[in-house]
Amino acid sequence: MEYRRFGKTNEMLSVITLGGMRFKHGWDAPRERLPKDAVDNCIDSTRRAFDAGINHLETAYGYVKGEHLFGAALREIGRPRGEYKVMTKGAPMTGVETRALVEKQLAALGLDYVDFYGWHGINNEERFQAAVKPGGPVEALHRLREEGLIRHIGFSTHAPLNIILKAIETDLFSFVNLHYYYFFQRHLPAVQRAGEKDLGVFIISPNEKGGMLWNPSEKVRALCQPLSAIEFNARFCLSHPEVTTLSMGMHAPEHFRQNLAALGGGEYFSATDLPVKERMDAVWPTIASRCTLCDECLPCPEGINIPEVLRFRNLLRGFDMKAYGRYRYNMLEGKGHWFPGRFASNCTECGDCLPRCPERLDIPRLLKETHRRLFSLPTVLRNRFADLQRQGRALFGKIFFR
Ligand code: SF4
Ligand code: SF4
Repeated sequence: MEYRRFGKTNEMLSVITLGGMRFKHGWDAPRERLPKDAVDNCIDSTRRAFDAGINHLETAYGYVKGEHLFGAALREIGRPRGEYKVMTKGAPMTGVETRALVEKQLAALGLDYVDFYGWHGINNEERFQAAVKPGGPVEALHRLREEGLIRHIGFSTHAPLNIILKAIETDLFSFVNLHYYYFFQRHLPAVQRAGEKDLGVFIISPNEKGGMLWNPSEKVRALCQPLSAIEFNARFCLSHPEVTTLSMGMHAPEHFRQNLAALGGGEYFSATDLPVKERMDAVWPTIASRCTLCDECLPCPEGINIPEVLRFRNLLRGFDMKAYGRYRYNMLEGKGHWFPGRFASNCTECGDCLPRCPERLDIPRLLKETHRRLFSLPTVLRNRFADLQRQGRALFGKIFFR
């Protein structure tokens, strides 16, 4: 295992983190009720992680059973506390709420302190202001740090680049959890700025949100040979010295094999990696009407997240990534600030965005084309149904398991 310094926290973390959001039944409320197969799955995954040299576990209050499952697994495994680090996250909105939430999270985890606490989801200006306001939750987290309940404070984000940069500049945080991978390089300036400010950089979901890499298109599979898409992307991320660790939601033995294979390949990029990188890089200039994700076209009065929709188009045109595009595109309008923006079919062709696009793209036409190729009503309905089921279970849990 390779270990890197997590920025100014000065903690050494394995470059792979065991992400705790994919254990069996993990998302099923109520949070305190732990089916045996869920606990067994978490124990097995945590053991495998420790055996592989992974010393960092990541979870969040928002992952429903996640903290309770890790709590049960850590009790069962009995590893000395100094040999592993735990990150959890939460999004309390006031100072008062913050202490109560952190104490509840520590009780679920069965720990006296967490190594890293991330304010969960600085996803837009409003949430940024709510988190960092004087007397607000981040200030309260700093008091809990002084009391020893938390060792280091950071934030996680699904926000546009400008918000991430603003949050980094506050100097309130020691680490940042963000999206950055081969198929989404827009946040490179945030990775670099975090490095300059000595913040640890944690990469969220490099395999799933990073391109559904366990199920790559034939084209991506072929371009990545002899590496797998997972290996190539992990090595791409780790080629940035600012990046500390990649969060992998491993919950089956094959996930460990797939992800650990990315390590041990020597320097980044090695003589094996380089030709792959060159083949992949050669695709981008061939994409007709490619969006550069500059964000200049925003805001759209219809609330369309133009760069994200056109990113899916880039990947579809350049890398045949239809399965990934369908998976992500059909999540729009269902995830609130975690994945904002309306379907491209809402474009009224008002033309507001056109003069702002430095590439002079015919945005309405490209949006229409992307919607036609990616929209799937059955998938949208299935997603909505799953969300409703989750909400129903959470409500049931609140009423009957208080
Ligand atoms: S043309 Fe379409 S995408 Fe562009 S600003 Fe108007 S509604 Fe939004
Ligand atoms: S302005 Fe043009 S290139 Fe930039 S994100 Fe919008 S559509 Fe893409």
